[in-house]
Amino acid sequence: MKRLIALSVLLVFGSVAYADDINPTRTIAQCGVDTHQHLYRREPFSDSAKDLISIMANVGFKRSLLMPPPFAYNRPYTFDDPSMNPSLLQITQTYPESFGLVGGGGILNPWIHDVVETNKTVDNTELMKFQVAAETILAKGAKAFGEMATLHLSAYSRHPFISIPANHPLYLRLAKVAAEKGVPIDIHLEVVNRDVLKIPEDMRKHRGKKQGQNCFLTTAEGGHNPSQISNNIEDFKELLHYNYDIADQLGKPENARIVWSHVGWDNTGDMTVDLLRMMLKAHPNLYLSLKMLEKPGACQVIENRPLKGDGFIWPDWLALIKDYPGRFVLGGDVATSNPNRNTAANIAGTWALLNQLPQDTALQIACDNPKKIYNLN
Ligand SMILES: [Zn+2]
Ligand SMILES: [Zn+2]
Repeated sequence: MKRLIALSVLLVFGSVAYADDINPTRTIAQCGVDTHQHLYRREPFSDSAKDLISIMANVGFKRSLLMPPPFAYNRPYTFDDPSMNPSLLQITQTYPESFGLVGGGGILNPWIHDVVETNKTVDNTELMKFQVAAETILAKGAKAFGEMATLHLSAYSRHPFISIPANHPLYLRLAKVAAEKGVPIDIHLEVVNRDVLKIPEDMRKHRGKKQGQNCFLTTAEGGHNPSQISNNIEDFKELLHYNYDIADQLGKPENARIVWSHVGWDNTGDMTVDLLRMMLKAHPNLYLSLKMLEKPGACQVIENRPLKGDGFIWPDWLALIKDYPGRFVLGGDVATSNPNRNTAANIAGTWALLNQLPQDTALQIACDNPKKIYNLN
C-alpha cells in the first residue's frame, strides 16, 4: 500500500470533472472514502473503531461508512443499540471526520427475511410500518440503507443463507423511500444469471487451488445453503427500474441510486464483466461497490476479479471502469480487528485497485463518487 500513498493523487484544479470542488489540490489520503465497512463485534466498538482509523491512515484514505451486516434472524444488532456500548451510531458521532453511518442491515433486512420465510401477507399496514421504520433510520442520521441482502450464501455455521426476491413488495417500498429521500441502498447480491445454479456442481469448477472443494455446504451436507438457486438478476432489474421510475416521476432521476456491493468478489461465476457492462448500460441508477480481498478466498471466481494474479488489472475491467468512471466506489467489507481475517491486508487489497487506474479516475472513484452517491459533506 505504500505505493498508493506514494502515488497520492495530486490534481490541479480545472483538470477534474467536478468543477464545484473548491480545493485546488487534494489527495486520496485527504478525501478517499470506503463506502462499505463493518466493525468487529467481539470487542467493544470503541476499540474496533480505533483500529480501523489506524488501518485507514496506513492504507491511505480518510473515511469509512459503517453499517451492520445483513442479518437474517440470528442475534441481529441495530446501529443504535445502546447495549453494544457504544453503538455504531455513537461511534459515527464520536468520529464524524472518520466515519459515516449506514443503517438497515439489523432492522430492515431481518424484517423482510422473516416475511419471506413465514410467507406473511404484506398488506398496506405492513408496508406503512416498514416505511416508517426505514424513514426513522434516515432521521437518526444514516446516509443510506445497508447492508441489505437479496442473495447471501452461507460460508460457515454462523453465516446466514438469505434469499429474498429483489422485487419483493417490501424491497420495492424501500426503493421508493430511497428515491424520495435521495439516498442509496447498499445490496449484497450474489448473482445467478442462469435459470438455476446447482450447488455444488456448478461451483466446483471455479475453485482455483482448491478445485473440487465445496465452500458452500448445502443443508444435506450440514450447511445452510439449498442445492439449487433460481435466477435472481431479473428480479434485481425490476427493483432498479422501480427505484428509477419513482425518482423520475418526482423529477429527480438523480435521486435513484442502488449500490451493488462486493462486485469483483464473485462466488457463483455469473458476475462477469459482460453482465456488469450490460447492467450499467441499462440502469443509470446502478452503482458498483468493488471489493477484492488481498488473497482471493478458495470460494472466489478468480476470473471475475478486477486484478490478475500478478496484480495488474484485466483489460476488460479497465475498459469497463474507464467507460463508467462515475459508477464505481470501493467497499472493503471487513470486520475490523478480527485476527482471523487479516483485516488490514484485505482493505489494502481493495484499495490496491486504484494503483491500476489513471489518476483522475482513481480520485473520482475514491473521493467524488462516494461524496455524490452518499450525500457526504
Ligand atoms: Zn455482504
Ligand atoms: Zn458487508
